[in-house]
Amino acid sequence: MKTAYIALGSNLGDRAANLKAALELLESAELHVLRRSSLYETAPQGLLDQPWFLNQVIEAETTLLPRQLLKRLLNIERELGRKRSIRNGPRTIDLDIVLYGSSVIRTAELTVPHPRMKKRRFVLEPLAELAPDLRHPESKLTMRELLARVQDQPVRCASEE
Ligand code: ADP
Ligand code: MG
Repeated sequence: MKTAYIALGSNLGDRAANLKAALELLESAELHVLRRSSLYETAPQGLLDQPWFLNQVIEAETTLLPRQLLKRLLNIERELGRKRSIRNGPRTIDLDIVLYGSSVIRTAELTVPHPRMKKRRFVLEPLAELAPDLRHPESKLTMRELLARVQDQPVRCASEE
């Protein structure tokens, strides 16, 4: 059994409903959602001319191996109607593996810890809410320390869920 942190994001349609639907599909015999962060509204990055995102991070315990977990996430994205068209463009749901225990993985299809998590307040803010003292397996900095470095990006808490 491993503890994994998964980032959820949506900026199309009923964003909160999309996050909730993804959470319900995630829960299974092989994965149990232990805790969920509040919801955060965050400005788009990269492609700026698109709606704001709703983001959340969840902590799960899972018997799925990293590749199996990724496959599960991609299936859920498909099930919820995500169309991969524009890179960094609007999406009904984006599901990323942020951390998988303290594993460091670099394959063609999967990089863990997520390569861009350290630069993204929309990941670090909800993650630090759940696990402020958790250390990044490579840099060894805590989530709270990483979050302090990205304070310039706008984020607002959208719920105390
Ligand atoms: P992004 O999440 O960076 O905006 P996408 O969701 O379109 O972009 O990227 C999808 C691809 O990223 C997946 O098909 C997967 O193979 C790859 N990928 C690499 N590392 C991860 C990770 N840690 N979590 C999720 N997807 C990852
Ligand atoms: Mg993704």
